[in-house]
Amino acid sequence: MSLEDENHKWVYTYGAGKAEGNRTQRNLLGGKGVGLHDMCSIGVPVPPGFTITTEVCTYYYDHDKTYPKKLEGDIQNGMKHIESIVGKKFGDESDPLLVSVRSGARVSMPGMMDTILNLGLNDKTVVGLHTKTGNERFAYDSYRRFIQMFGDIVMGVPHADFEKVLQGVKDKAGVKLDTELNTDNLKEVITGYKALINEKKGHEFPQDVQEQLKQAIHAVFGSWNNPRAITYRNINDIPHTWGTAVNIVAMVFGNMGDTSATGVAFTRNPATGEKVFFGEYLINAQGEDVVAGIRTPQQISNAGKAAQGSDLPSMEESMPEMYKELNEVREKLEKHNKDMQDIEFTIQEGKLYLLQCRNGKRTAKAAVKIAVDLYNEGILDKDQALLLVDPTAINQLLHRQIDPKAKKTVLSKGLNASPGAASGTIVFTAEDAEKKAKDGPVILLREETSPDDITGMHVAKGVITSRGGMTSHAAVVARGMGAPCITGCGEMVINFEKKTVSFGNKDLKEGDWISMSGDTGEIYEGQVPTVEPQISGDFQTIMKWADETRRLHIEANAETPKDAQQARDFGAEGIGLVRTEHMFFDPKRIISIRKMILADNDEEKRAALAELLPYQTGDFEALFKIMDGYPVTIRLLDPPLHEFLPKTDKDIKELAAEIKVSEELIRKRIVTLHELNPMLGDRGCRLCISRPEITEMQGRAIFTAAMNCAKQGIKVYPQIMIPLAVSKKEIQILKEILDKEKATLEKENNVQIPYVFGTMIELPRACLKADELASLAHFFSFGTNDLTQTTLGISRDDFSFRDCYKENGIFDSDPFAVIDEEGVGELIKMAITRGKKVQKELRTGICGEHGGDPKSIQFADACGMDYVSCSPFRIPIARLAAAQAVVKNKKK
Ligand code: PEP
Ligand code: MG
Repeated sequence: MSLEDENHKWVYTYGAGKAEGNRTQRNLLGGKGVGLHDMCSIGVPVPPGFTITTEVCTYYYDHDKTYPKKLEGDIQNGMKHIESIVGKKFGDESDPLLVSVRSGARVSMPGMMDTILNLGLNDKTVVGLHTKTGNERFAYDSYRRFIQMFGDIVMGVPHADFEKVLQGVKDKAGVKLDTELNTDNLKEVITGYKALINEKKGHEFPQDVQEQLKQAIHAVFGSWNNPRAITYRNINDIPHTWGTAVNIVAMVFGNMGDTSATGVAFTRNPATGEKVFFGEYLINAQGEDVVAGIRTPQQISNAGKAAQGSDLPSMEESMPEMYKELNEVREKLEKHNKDMQDIEFTIQEGKLYLLQCRNGKRTAKAAVKIAVDLYNEGILDKDQALLLVDPTAINQLLHRQIDPKAKKTVLSKGLNASPGAASGTIVFTAEDAEKKAKDGPVILLREETSPDDITGMHVAKGVITSRGGMTSHAAVVARGMGAPCITGCGEMVINFEKKTVSFGNKDLKEGDWISMSGDTGEIYEGQVPTVEPQISGDFQTIMKWADETRRLHIEANAETPKDAQQARDFGAEGIGLVRTEHMFFDPKRIISIRKMILADNDEEKRAALAELLPYQTGDFEALFKIMDGYPVTIRLLDPPLHEFLPKTDKDIKELAAEIKVSEELIRKRIVTLHELNPMLGDRGCRLCISRPEITEMQGRAIFTAAMNCAKQGIKVYPQIMIPLAVSKKEIQILKEILDKEKATLEKENNVQIPYVFGTMIELPRACLKADELASLAHFFSFGTNDLTQTTLGISRDDFSFRDCYKENGIFDSDPFAVIDEEGVGELIKMAITRGKKVQKELRTGICGEHGGDPKSIQFADACGMDYVSCSPFRIPIARLAAAQAVVKNKKK
């Protein structure tokens, strides 16, 4: 039904065991709404209410901040629905209905918008509440809480100003706690609050209950786009187009005496996953008291009490009947939702109400235990259990972590580019990193890193850059090394001369300690303790199930023996990308490659390359040995040559002396090799063609290594791939060079050296000409970093308008992290179809950073690809994500 249709449904009611909404409508009703409707329909006690849908929110923003015409009438009907079930009237001066107004997007966004409780109270209805309940203090306490929440959230008067008024009355009354204020004190607080609102806003706190309702709803929809919410969505990749729902729910009170209570609980322990009812409650209290820290909350169950070492009575002890009922609800909700639940409840004079239920947030350790336990309890089948574990959370199980119990001061936050945690002293250059790492751990801070920084990065415990995104050099290299990395921390300003850095108004210098979490992107002051990863038996069980279920092969992007071994240990089934240029940056080798670049004639060039040959051969032999029985896919040299030349005066001087050429010559070469757009310049297969001697050397090294390993009984499967190809002719030229090298070696040694030849697909033209390329290539490896860069025309290293594009709904997520299915994805699908028409057995996969991203892996599975390749520490994530992809794509 169109939004313009006059019968369009904007409001869904529930209550008294019947709900208009159902569990499939999360997008429409939001997480909180769907939980309430669903609980109601399965007979869990909930106070009646109604949900104003997320469509109203999107309508509001699409129509110049106006609402659908019919909405006001629908809201009135919703209120009548609640009135008829509760038997009270909204605004009734003798027995008023009070409601709460709560936001609720599809996914929970903590801190975006608080709940408003007790709405419907004014100077007159408060008297009715008093007479009806016979509890004057309760009535006025509810009223003052309402004015405070409404004043803060709806009218925008700072919370702290209300606290000042409250503190003033407490001081005057000579009491410490809110609970010690008597009715007269509370009335004085109310007078003070109203005066404060008048002073700050220039108008009264609204006495008209309809006006209160209208303004509260308006505030929730407005809050969707407050700066806090926008930032939260940017960080968590939540589309800005989703909108929030609003729930209007009849109030129930946990503060009506000793048979009333309120609490929050998890159906299992969210930290460990153990099956214990885990949560806190308070007798005679309202929701906010449990989290406000004024009174010490008590544990729900005896098991929880023992685990927390609490000496206060548990609910199981002090309210055994209510506990029994709540525990039954706990079991019912878990079975129904097939997951651990996070619930909020209130007991009003001995009657239990659930106010919220949703799948509970948990640590990775708890996630795997809960998934395996729910399978063993017969609640989930294997497919469902696999879907219960968030693959990206597995990171927590593979790297050191910031000790969750540690005290920490956050200095700043950037992009969580590579997981893990580290502490170290600050250094600002790769050289200093190398020098200082001998004396203790260091963290390297740069604006961005370049291949020159590799050795420094290797010795640093972590890397932080102020620029760059998820596919920047620092991010890719650190992920490959399994070291924590934070990129794009714009707040970090480095002064390289003075060797100082500032994070906002905090200044630090070289040698100062900092800590970092690559999982959250947070940077901390000082030395924060870290803890070892814990790999439990449940984790292994989940991975075993994942391997039995997945279809995609999982390979690694690796070039050092350490990375390759790590990849194997994590279950990689081969190497999908060896970036050979990373092998050239070792100080011993860089000289030879520089000599080659600076050489005047062919002879000198070949002599320089001959120096590199044994290194390369050794590198490949090491990889073949580790990957015994699995394919190793080696990419010919890719980056523009200027990346290998020295950058500073000092380096130029040193190089000139070492290889005995003039500084002038080096400078001249640097100028000649300079390109305005190096990423679109003489790199990839263009370089391999314009400098065929490099290709010859690399081919010779690969074939020699394969031959040597085969002699030792190692099963070698070398694969060679061409970077950045756009035409058949390019790959034909390179294949001929390689085949010639192979033939020479075969003849010299009287052996056969089989190898598989393929190409990367990194440019739109390569997708268009996929049929031609497939006539020579046996596999396509989609280099989605460059393919995204060139399809979107956005530099992968300077995507500074990322957040702006997300906020404007242009991208739902960073296309360099999650594949842009509509654009880049279409090209990929087309390339596969065209390629397979020519080469039926064409093997296809992704080796860009997307190869380790769960959503992109689902896309790869749906396209019928054969493999994904990602950095070693993402291998387990990819194995699980590939299994989830099979389950999800089956459902589609
Ligand atoms: C790619 O472009 O996706 C790729 C794997 O190559 P690189 O990141 O080395 O450019
Ligand atoms: Mg590339």
